[in-house]
Amino acid sequence: MKPIIGLTVSGERKGQSEYNSLNCTYINAILEVGGVPLLIPMVADRDILARYINIVDGIIFTGGGDISPLYYGENPIKELGEVDEHRDSYEMALFMEAYPTDMPILGICRGCQLINVALGGTLYQDINSQIEGSYGHLSKSDAISQVYHMIRIEKESKLYDIFGNDTIAVNSYHHQAVKELGDGLKATAYSYDGIIEAYESVKKDYIIGVQWHPEAMVPKRALFTKLFEDFVKQCATWR
Ligand code: MN
Repeated sequence: MKPIIGLTVSGERKGQSEYNSLNCTYINAILEVGGVPLLIPMVADRDILARYINIVDGIIFTGGGDISPLYYGENPIKELGEVDEHRDSYEMALFMEAYPTDMPILGICRGCQLINVALGGTLYQDINSQIEGSYGHLSKSDAISQVYHMIRIEKESKLYDIFGNDTIAVNSYHHQAVKELGDGLKATAYSYDGIIEAYESVKKDYIIGVQWHPEAMVPKRALFTKLFEDFVKQCATWR
């Protein structure tokens, strides 16, 4: 049976209406590799979120705005972007329900940061103002399917096993980054200015966070399809 992949959404206000939305590239990437995407609505009720975790075989924490720094014990610097306390609490609750199950979890961009913070890690609130000598990480191209900078992948890692290469080019649309890693996470890829671009869990079978946007490059760049293939295969078999 095709595994059901939970996807988190963002809240969006348009005029008088509020929407839960998700870029279709996430849905298409899951469909491309034989998964069944299931968008999890941004509800506050923890019991309802727990039911969704019972239904899905794995979950992807998706991209979006900044996480409130209050979650990692800091007050906002002026360069902090837009935060949404409802999305923060919804995704934190989902993660806390998912983590003990050992289900595969993939964090993409904001999702990578979210998992790290949920496990007690911290973030750079703004790369440009907080990391001296950093390179570009916020591509000005509106074509998110274009690669932007190089990363180095650690050889002893799931990402290396998946990509079969220790140097790849990725897209980059972030102004925040992982600072201190959360419990049980080890960095598995860095940009050339030393910023953590991916991690995995050493405590759980399958938790991967990537700071770039692989979903936006599927199916055009076959390399990134491999990540979703691996994730969805794991979702189908971990039980
Ligand atoms: Mn980057």
